[in-house]
Amino acid sequence: MNMGPLQNGQTAVVIGGGPGGTSCAIALRQLARQHNRDINVILFDGKATVGETHYNQCVGVLAPPIDQVLNDIGVPFPHQLVQREIQAYILHGERRQLRLTEQGEVGYAMRRVQFDAYMLQQAREHGVDIRPSRITDLEFLPDRVNVYAEGSNCVAAVVFGAFGLDPGTTTLLAQVTGYRPPRFLTSLVTKIHPPDGVLANFGNNIHAFLPRSPHIEFGAITPKGNHFTVNLAGSTVDSRDMEDFLSYPPLQRVLY
Ligand SMILES: Cc1cc2nc3c(=O)[nH]c(=O)nc-3n(C[C@H](O)[C@H](O)[C@H](O)COP(=O)(O)OP(=O)(O)OC[C@H]3O[C@@H](n4cnc5c(N)ncnc54)[C@H](O)[C@@H]3O)c2cc1C
Repeated sequence: MNMGPLQNGQTAVVIGGGPGGTSCAIALRQLARQHNRDINVILFDGKATVGETHYNQCVGVLAPPIDQVLNDIGVPFPHQLVQREIQAYILHGERRQLRLTEQGEVGYAMRRVQFDAYMLQQAREHGVDIRPSRITDLEFLPDRVNVYAEGSNCVAAVVFGAFGLDPGTTTLLAQVTGYRPPRFLTSLVTKIHPPDGVLANFGNNIHAFLPRSPHIEFGAITPKGNHFTVNLAGSTVDSRDMEDFLSYPPLQRVLY
C-alpha cells in the first residue's frame, strides 16, 4: 500500500465520535486544507444521531489548557456549556489534604453529552461527513481498507481508531490488526441532588479520596450545575462499593 501522503480525492475514516474522534477529524480537514489537498474525512459513530440523550460514563471536567487545545484546531471554546469553573483538586489522605491547582488556570465542568454534540457539530461545519452508524468490520487490503458499517460501507486509504474502550471494536481491531486492548480500571458514576444550600456552599473544587480497599483506586466528588457527580474507580467496583463510598466518613464530612 502507498503509505502516503494522502492524495486528492482519497478518504480517511475515523471510528468514533467522542472528543478523540471529532478532534482528529477536524484536525485532518484542517491539515488537508493547509496542504491544498481535497481529502474526504468520514467519521462513524453509532450514537451520533441521538444528540443529547445518550449516556457516557464521564464526569465532564475539561482540564486546562483545553481552550488552547480547541483553539489549535480552529474550534471556539463552548463557554455557553460551562456549568461551573473548577479551581482545584483536593486530595484527601489519611492524615492531611493536598490542594492541587493549575497555577491560576481553571477547569470547566459541563455535561459531557453536550460537549460531544458540540464537537460533532463543529466537525460537520469543518466538512467532516458524519455517518451515524457503527463500524462492524474492517478488511485491510494491500491498496485500501474496506470499511463495513451498519448503515453504509466505504473504501478508505487510512483508518483512525478513536473508539475508546468499546469492547466490540477493541475485539475487532485485535482480530484484524496488531492492536492490543490496554489494561483499564472499571468505574461507577452516580449523581447526588443535595438539600438546598449544600451546593452553593461547597466551593468550586473536586475532592478525591483514597479509601482503604484492596480493589478501589480512588473515589471523587465533583460539583456540577444542580447536583454532585460521584465516581469510583478500581480493579472491580460494584454498587455495594458505591454505597460504602457514599457513607465514607471523609466524604460525608466534605459534603455536610
Ligand atoms: C467514570 C469516568 C469519568 C471520567 N471523567 C472525565 C473527566 O471528568 N474529564 C475528562 O477529561 N475525562 C474523563 N474521563 C475520561 C474520558 O471519558 C475519556 O478520556 C474520553 O471519553 C476518551 O475520548 P475518546 O473520544 O477517545 O473515546 P470515547 O469518548 O469513549 O468515544 C468513543 C466513541 O467511539 C464510538 N465507537 C466505538 N466503537 C465504534 C464502532 N465500531 N463504530 C462506530 N463508533 C464506535 C462510541 O460510540 C463512542 O462515541 C472519564 C472516564 C470515566 C470512565
